[in-house]
Amino acid sequence: MNEQHHGFETLAIHAGQEADPATGAVITPIFATSTYRQDGVGKPRQGYEYSRTQNPTRAALEECLAALEHGARGLAFASGMAAEDTLLRTLCKPGDHVVIPDDAYGGTYRLFAKVAEPWGLAHTPVHVADVDAVRAALRSRPTALLWVETPTNPLLAVADIARLAEVAHEAGALLVVDNTFASPYLQQPLTLGADVVVHSTTKYAGGHSDVVGGALVTADATLGERLAYGQNAMGAVAGPFDAWLVLRGLKTLAVRMERHSDNAERIAAYLAGHPKVGQVLYPGLPEHPGHEVAAKQMRRFGGIVSFRLAGGAAAAIEVCERTTLFTLAESLGGIESLIEHPGQMTHASAAGSPLEVPDDLVRLSVGIETIDDLLDDLAQALG
Ligand code: PLP
Repeated sequence: MNEQHHGFETLAIHAGQEADPATGAVITPIFATSTYRQDGVGKPRQGYEYSRTQNPTRAALEECLAALEHGARGLAFASGMAAEDTLLRTLCKPGDHVVIPDDAYGGTYRLFAKVAEPWGLAHTPVHVADVDAVRAALRSRPTALLWVETPTNPLLAVADIARLAEVAHEAGALLVVDNTFASPYLQQPLTLGADVVVHSTTKYAGGHSDVVGGALVTADATLGERLAYGQNAMGAVAGPFDAWLVLRGLKTLAVRMERHSDNAERIAAYLAGHPKVGQVLYPGLPEHPGHEVAAKQMRRFGGIVSFRLAGGAAAAIEVCERTTLFTLAESLGGIESLIEHPGQMTHASAAGSPLEVPDDLVRLSVGIETIDDLLDDLAQALG
């Protein structure tokens, strides 16, 4: 397939997914095999030798992810954290320094603070929406990576990817963008100058809360080779069943993201007018400080809405426990709506750190249910 000429929806359904040459199966099979018969010593039949190194189901997913992100190489992992860990240990060495968001996903922060730091990798948290602060942090000492999420989890801060790519490259650092919240449908960081994109495919890519996975994508073939080497050497790969679920999820990513965005826009507007809500954090609201940058680099504003309760932490916890359609659960990006209290749930690992989140904060992962039902549920929960 000539990927240059096809639109996003077509690539999501077809890239890397030719009909199976052996059987004609239209849908990529789940190749549940660890090894492959060779035609002679050192002569693998179609390049496949061992499934940690390469597996056809995973290869289909990896090719599809690369096409959707406009990359040259996609790599699929057992989880988002596995992708992040492989990236860090492949591109950094003990003694290096990285700059990270001051409200990164709690698990990402834990990886930097509790795993990478004892290994010898120093980090500086910075507000990624503030380009001058990022530049200053990069200049403070030689830096291997500038790592950003945009929008961030859970405060929905927006980083200007194109400007940060310039700032990172001036400082001799690579720009890594965690694109989990936006998904490749809403935002394509590699086209804006980022060097590597990270995904928790557990979220919008999979889209149905039935699989845990991660991915790395890069437009630079040499960087892709290095990361593929790290993927095989460390071995935290996506299994074929999980790769198949993510590949199936990607086929409907575009239509899901449109509906997630429709519903989230309505909910953000509703919450912004509610007397018990102190502040709504959603990049689609014109008053959001990152609105202009988000409008420039995102197709729409996505399905995550965070808000702070005027009544403080107790009110936030009460709302989380009173919804009936929004399920109280961690994670995000599935078709069903979820609600959570980041301070005590997803971001509990950042408690007491510079990345601690406000305790009056509630995060919604707005699903694709009927919007009036979602609004009714929030109305009754807010009381
Ligand atoms: N990045 C972001 C923005 C996330 O929200 C998450 C998980 O919530 C991760 C990375 C980690 O991914 P996983 O849970 O698949 O390991």
